[in-house]
Amino acid sequence: MVVSWLKHRFSGGLLALDTTNTVVLRGDPANSFDRFEDAAEIARFAEAASGFRSTELGARGLFFQHSAAAARQVVALREAADGLFREAAADGEIQTGRLPEFLRASAACLDESAERLGAGGMPFGDLSRPMRFEVALAVSALSLLADDAWRKVRICRNCRWLFLDRSRNASRLWCDMSVCGNRHKAKRHYERRRQAAREAVHA
Ligand SMILES: [Zn+2]
Repeated sequence: MVVSWLKHRFSGGLLALDTTNTVVLRGDPANSFDRFEDAAEIARFAEAASGFRSTELGARGLFFQHSAAAARQVVALREAADGLFREAAADGEIQTGRLPEFLRASAACLDESAERLGAGGMPFGDLSRPMRFEVALAVSALSLLADDAWRKVRICRNCRWLFLDRSRNASRLWCDMSVCGNRHKAKRHYERRRQAAREAVHA
């Protein structure tokens, strides 16, 4: 099935987190699935991310040149980043034991890259040509370790996606209020009504 890479799928607020969210319903083995299972989706995701993550990327475009090795590198970094930052979000601390896998996966994605980050004042460098997706993914993931940026990573209460909470009072609960916030409210409303109905029966 071809994935529609809609705005909601970029609710992570950072390229690296949007990428971790390409596994749907993590922690729910019966329903979880991987949108990158078909590696052709990585290229389509990279193209959509060029638009949705334009601010982070300084308007640099991304592309993914498919190869089995490149797809493996992307998935390896995605999983290492999810493990590291999900745990950091839950516990409020970084486990050094998780760093080697994360750093190795980042290094593999950066291997043979020759980018000049910050060139021309652009965070991801030269805008005249697109950047390899796996390189941008590594730069984005590593940026979470700078200046304690990882402290803003949250886990959506509804879908368990990771997202960056940039709200002033750091109080966001949902990756996307219009989707997960409303679903949660509807569920609570339903549960309250069911409870009220039950109490009416027992009254
Ligand atoms: Zn969510």
